[in-house]
Amino acid sequence: MTDPRQVIIVGSGLAGASAAAAVRERGFAGKVTLFGQDRYRPYELPALSKGILLGDAEHPDWVHEEGYYPEHDIELRTSSRITQLRPDEQIVVDSDGNAHHYDRLLLATGSKSRHLSVPGGDAPALLTLRTLDDANALRPKLAAGARVVVIGAGWIGCEVAAAARHHDAQVTVVEPASLPLLRVLGTTVGEVFRDLHADHGVTWRLGVGVSAFTSQADGTEVVGLDDGTELVADVVVVAVGAAPDVTLAKEAGLSIAPDGGVAVDAALRTSDPLIYAAGDIASHAHPRYAHPVRVEHWANAKDQGTHVAGALLGDEQPYTASPYFFSDQYDLGLEYRGLADPEHDELVVRGDLASREFIAFWLAEGRVRAALNVNSWDDGDALGALVDKAAEVSAEQLRDADLGTLS
Ligand SMILES: Cc1cc2nc3c(=O)[nH]c(=O)nc-3n(C[C@H](O)[C@H](O)[C@H](O)COP(=O)(O)OP(=O)(O)OC[C@H]3O[C@@H](n4cnc5c(N)ncnc54)[C@H](O)[C@@H]3O)c2cc1C
Repeated sequence: MTDPRQVIIVGSGLAGASAAAAVRERGFAGKVTLFGQDRYRPYELPALSKGILLGDAEHPDWVHEEGYYPEHDIELRTSSRITQLRPDEQIVVDSDGNAHHYDRLLLATGSKSRHLSVPGGDAPALLTLRTLDDANALRPKLAAGARVVVIGAGWIGCEVAAAARHHDAQVTVVEPASLPLLRVLGTTVGEVFRDLHADHGVTWRLGVGVSAFTSQADGTEVVGLDDGTELVADVVVVAVGAAPDVTLAKEAGLSIAPDGGVAVDAALRTSDPLIYAAGDIASHAHPRYAHPVRVEHWANAKDQGTHVAGALLGDEQPYTASPYFFSDQYDLGLEYRGLADPEHDELVVRGDLASREFIAFWLAEGRVRAALNVNSWDDGDALGALVDKAAEVSAEQLRDADLGTLS
């Protein structure tokens, strides 16, 4: 393979923008083009469901200062969607019909909010939260007294509920599972989040799904539930997860993994040797896990984006970082490192669940698979090391010993 002269990045989210910057930091002197269908320059998403909805932030964290892209000779094309990828010709086609040649291509097209396939599930009044425009549309609706129904108690649903309560809205969260965040945190820790939101005035409708949405002439929405009951809402936020946006990859014939992401090897290369994928869409053959790993979180987008720059320029190295994410809800902040199966792994709690200041560990075969620190900020490095090494430690040690000595 010849040295690349033209690198094209599709998707101007955190992964794409981090990759563009890292390509330049590595001294690449060729052409770098970053296509983004969003009209803004690259921004980070976490503040959309936190600072922006809370009213604490006017704008999200931009990935780079204004002026960064021209100063680094990165051609940033905002409001420009790539509609076609033709690997056999090494070409992408933009929404104006212009073809662009690449020597190396990065797909960083991220995720799209999922919708519910129930009657009325595509009504325009139902809001989702993925972009800055989504957040700006939602923010003024979270007003005192407004009846807000959040569908889904994953991370975004929980954060939206917290922001709505901050503005004194009447908040009901509908979740078909028996607890919020159950799939990631399991029963014991899920209960902590159920109680957190209940203590802040959220009404839970757990264990029940949505059967239909009906828009009313007065602008309200009736949310029909599986158990035959109905909720009347001024605002409905559908937060039922995100789906990787693999349209281009699929149409171009790249391998798609069973988890719906673009299949990439350890170095983030797709089934086409000139095309890489990073961030939410990458279903990664992670060297430390027996199964492909697809992570929909901030750190993964930033770190994979930075890492894949090496591969785009011919220096392929395995990406080995452990999954990591954070969340803030009310006065609770948390970080999670690793990847656990809470249904089967052993849970060990250090600290006090009731006071919401604790560290939870998940162990499999006596080894640490994941750690969650809640309102506890002193042991981040030690937790990272325990997870990275899959340290073999006893439950007693995790509960009582100095964590620094264990890692
Ligand atoms: C509201 C919200 C809050 C979050 N909070 C947290 C948090 O607290 N902690 C955490 O760890 N993670 C959080 N996340 C997740 C994290 O932000 C994402 O995992 C991360 O942003 C993914 O980055 P990405 O670059 O892979 O994808 P994205 O950020 O989705 O960027 C992909 C970009 O590609 C563009 N695109 C797609 N297709 C095309 C095309 N064909 N042509 C041109 N452009 C295209 C999209 O418009 C988008 O701008 C949050 C996500 C959301 C939505």
